[in-house]
Amino acid sequence: MSKKEHILIIGAGLCGSMLALRMAQRGYKVSLYEGRPDLRTTNISAGRSINLALSDRGLRAINMVGITDKVLPYCIPMYGRLMHDIQGNTFVSNYSGREGEYINSMSRGTLNALLLTEAEKHVNVNIHFNKKCTGVDIEKNVAKFKCYTSKEKLEISADVIFGADGAGSALRKSYYLEKKFLFSHSQNFLTHGYKELEIPADNNGKHRISKDHLHIWPRGQYMLIALPNLDGSFTVTLFLSYEEGEYNFNNLTTIEKVTEFFESQFPDALALIPDLKNEFFNNPTGALGTVKCYPWYYEGKTMLIGDAAHAIVPFYGQGMNASFEDIIVFDEVLEQHEGDWKATFKAYQEARKKDTDAIADLAIDNYYEMRDHVANPFFKEKRKLEMELEKAFPDTYFSKYSMVTFNEDINYAKAMKIGRAQDKALLNLIADKEIDTSRDIKTILDQVQKETNDILEEDKIAGLK
Ligand SMILES: Cc1cc2nc3c(=O)[nH]c(=O)nc-3n(C[C@H](O)[C@H](O)[C@H](O)COP(=O)(O)OP(=O)(O)OC[C@H]3O[C@@H](n4cnc5c(N)ncnc54)[C@H](O)[C@@H]3O)c2cc1C
Repeated sequence: MSKKEHILIIGAGLCGSMLALRMAQRGYKVSLYEGRPDLRTTNISAGRSINLALSDRGLRAINMVGITDKVLPYCIPMYGRLMHDIQGNTFVSNYSGREGEYINSMSRGTLNALLLTEAEKHVNVNIHFNKKCTGVDIEKNVAKFKCYTSKEKLEISADVIFGADGAGSALRKSYYLEKKFLFSHSQNFLTHGYKELEIPADNNGKHRISKDHLHIWPRGQYMLIALPNLDGSFTVTLFLSYEEGEYNFNNLTTIEKVTEFFESQFPDALALIPDLKNEFFNNPTGALGTVKCYPWYYEGKTMLIGDAAHAIVPFYGQGMNASFEDIIVFDEVLEQHEGDWKATFKAYQEARKKDTDAIADLAIDNYYEMRDHVANPFFKEKRKLEMELEKAFPDTYFSKYSMVTFNEDINYAKAMKIGRAQDKALLNLIADKEIDTSRDIKTILDQVQKETNDILEEDKIAGLK
């Protein structure tokens, strides 16, 4: 089969624009259709996930498409979490005990713009903005669009159509509406939503709090986090229930109530957010959910990728990283099966599905960890020990967080299995006071490894994967 096949990609977000770039590099004719205007010429991000944590899996994909040197100047390294308690005391919990392991705060808009510009450099790529996909005829392989500028309806056919159109994917909707095959799907929303606020730069354009950390104000039922931006500001995200608890999005309806909430729960943050009223009442409240579905493809014609196939909650900072990693896995599989799309899609799904299911579950685990457990004394002790183990045994010991975030050679499913057992082992040993920190660190490593292996063995006997 010729490499000149026409590939249509719905959605020019992070995943769609990187996929377009990669497929163009492979010589395909690519049409990229995006519902929104061109973000390089219009400001469309206000109040919606302005910055993201970019880590090793995402960086590996960026490296594959050859734009690392263009992306790195926009990255702000964050070496750990900086926790703020209710009294305003802070403590740091590093992400890793190894040197050189950190995550990066990066502007979503800048990264998306870079990818679009790189894709557009290829003559075989055409990008169409303001074209919203309204559905796909999955039998005929025709995608239907509504043009926001001309108001026209368009029908575009292609050899292969990818749905990279995010959590509300039009292609995914067509899969279940057309009922051509057995399509399983679930969408589970959290009871919490999110709202973005801002800590502006100081008068010298500098960051008011450490830019080397991801800040967390954990409060059990809700939390605030902040990631640094290059202009000296921080994007702050409040995660809060829609309707449960004393304070929730539904009852925070006046500035007095919002101020009372921040004064009592986040007093140090309140002092840093001068425009709270305007931002709280004008920025949208976003929903958070997990999408799982199966299969991801229909025949050798259409396929879901990125959030369209597996949207996850943002608490592991892995949604974009996983979507970028999708493209690495897809590229490897395409290399083996090029010319046979059905075989490619099947092999890709087999290689990838267990891992995206795992990161979805890990992201939910981290939701509880970040808003609650990070302040728990056992949890703090566990993280301290993990840092010491990683420092002493950089080639042997990897915490769950390290496996997920810094070890792209360990897939998510394996990281989840070993990481969960290891967490349980450490917490058991700490709670049972079986770890004597005055003993040499090698003895502690042996203890943790033995307990972890015992748990993994028990899980195997119990039939847990
Ligand atoms: C609050 C928040 C914080 C996050 N933080 C992180 C983080 O720190 N690290 C991380 O790795 N991930 C993070 N994520 C997840 C990350 O945003 C997503 O996983 C990532 O954006 C997925 O990329 P995508 O291209 O698949 O989908 P999207 O980014 O959603 O892009 C989909 C694109 O398709 C377009 N589109 C949608 N419908 C249509 C249609 N019908 N027709 C045409 N175009 C359409 C959209 O306009 C959009 O441009 C976060 C998410 C949220 C909500």
